[in-house]
Amino acid sequence: MQSEDHKKQVLQALERCLEKDRAKTKITEVSSLGLVEMTRKRTRESLEHILCEPCSACGGRGVLKTSESMCLEIFREIIREVRQYKVQKLLVLASNSVVEMLLDEEADMLAELETFLGVQIKFRAEAEYNQEQYDVVLL
Ligand SMILES: [Zn+2]
Repeated sequence: MQSEDHKKQVLQALERCLEKDRAKTKITEVSSLGLVEMTRKRTRESLEHILCEPCSACGGRGVLKTSESMCLEIFREIIREVRQYKVQKLLVLASNSVVEMLLDEEADMLAELETFLGVQIKFRAEAEYNQEQYDVVLL
């Protein structure tokens, strides 16, 4: 493979073959030793792409907000709804872990909120809700 033309032909043939390969590849120029370096992205990733879908709980982010931050988010939502709709009773639907925390660690905060807003807040754990799902229902 002495001539530049031959080198070019080899590279072009290689590139044509690689176009059919769905995995990402990179090839370099022919080196002084007549070698072509080629890197190929691992196919495990494309298999993963075929066999998997984004996690419906986290939307593919790979993380979920903690129960604690969900409690705060729900408190903010309650305040917003009470101010906007002037209701006296609310029902909060949330995941088991979030409802558990609201009624345990956050119970004091919750009692304060009820007094402060003059509302009664009820909770229902929804087994199929993930940690980030909740609904505030006006009663
Ligand atoms: Zn996830």
